Amino acid sequence: MAKPIVIWPDKVLQRPTAKVTDFGPALEKLLSEMMDSLREAEGIGIAANQIGVTLRVAWVGRPDGSFFEIVNPELLEATEAVTYEEGCLSVPGEFDDTPRFRKVKVRFQDRTGTWQTLEAEDRLAHVLQHEIDHLDGAVFVTRLSSLKRDLIRKKMVKLQKTRADEHAHPHRGHDHRHDHDHPAHGHHHHEDHGREDD
Ligand SMILES: [Zn+2]
Repeated sequence: MAKPIVIWPDKVLQRPTAKVTDFGPALEKLLSEMMDSLREAEGIGIAANQIGVTLRVAWVGRPDGSFFEIVNPELLEATEAVTYEEGCLSVPGEFDDTPRFRKVKVRFQDRTGTWQTLEAEDRLAHVLQHEIDHLDGAVFVTRLSSLKRDLIRKKMVKLQKTRADEHAHPHRGHDHRHDHDHPAHGHHHHEDHGREDD
């Protein structure tokens, strides 16, 4: 079952996650829960702390629509500064030009603990940077100006309150919640990185 996605500025999104040391069934289960939430939200990437689990694990979407897991990822190289319009499942409805690098080299483990090195460009490089940021306790809005960040924070705090109210009174505002839970419906692939692929 898909777990709800945590909304920024929840604290769990602002703390670095812990390294994975146990590559057993618990990791498989976590990956599967994360995938359920990712698919329900129609995202292109998700980090474990977005469903409240503080471990260094994320799913990353490839340009062909498939996904692979990254465990204990490390950013080895980042070159060619660019800005990229990004969004995030934890910051619903917000998209902003975010400073990133066009090319990256990363190292990570898969679910079996095997290390791999990957060089990526463009969209895949952005997804990797976005997810590694999450695992380091950062969200794309932390890379924006403080003015923009504060505006977005106000909106998100309001959204968190609305959702908490709906949870307490499920009959009130159901339509509302439906909108928020499926922001990408019929438009664009929403999460983690934006609009490039529409
Ligand atoms: Zn995100």
